[in-house]
Amino acid sequence: MKLSIIKPGFDRKVVYARLGAETDMRTISGKVRKNVDRAYENLMEISSPSIFYTSEDITCIENNRIEIANNIHLKSRKLAKTVRECNELISFVGTLGEDVDKAIATTMKKGRVSDAFIMDAVASSFMEHIIQMFWQEKGTALQKKENRYATVRFSPGYCDWPVTGQKKLFKVLSENPIKVMLSESMLMSPRKSVSGVFGISEPGSGNELKNYLPCRDCTRADCAERRFESGTREN
Ligand code: SF4
Repeated sequence: MKLSIIKPGFDRKVVYARLGAETDMRTISGKVRKNVDRAYENLMEISSPSIFYTSEDITCIENNRIEIANNIHLKSRKLAKTVRECNELISFVGTLGEDVDKAIATTMKKGRVSDAFIMDAVASSFMEHIIQMFWQEKGTALQKKENRYATVRFSPGYCDWPVTGQKKLFKVLSENPIKVMLSESMLMSPRKSVSGVFGISEPGSGNELKNYLPCRDCTRADCAERRFESGTREN
């Protein structure tokens, strides 16, 4: 069980896309750009990004589910295929902390709806960046030191892993000292939190699945979470 603290960053292009500039960044006005930068500076001051993760042995992989220690089963065909050369599963939860939720709610209460919306978009990109850095650092270190690789990440509620999968994931993460809680309706608190898993391959295992990307074979055209060859959500 470990705690990882990563310096936040964010991707302007992703934030602008969330604010409505699907392909043409020039549609974002100078005022909005300034507000995005201001939100970033504000969030840098108030967020306390941290990630907690655990590592479990994978004890069984079937067609549509995997079993990890303590008889916990995670149900997803895509996840099972992605980790089929793995003997270890990393479960993680990361958060920006409560102050970010409070700041967004306070801004909203003051009637500054568009500022709150921008803060929310920047905070989501912050969170995504932190998790991506964590996953990349883990993967790179494993490859260098142990000739193992990290698969792409999965979160409950995406692909074919139902959001109710959070319950089982939080059994594994129940001792998280960063105090991320799960409600009955599967919402995490603080709200700007992300949970998920990725597999770690056996040392020297074949390369067949090393770069396996479930999105490559997926026909779902409207998926906002589609990942590209880099393992990120950016092409
Ligand atoms: S495109 Fe990728 S992320 Fe989206 S549902 Fe398909 S496999 Fe999952």
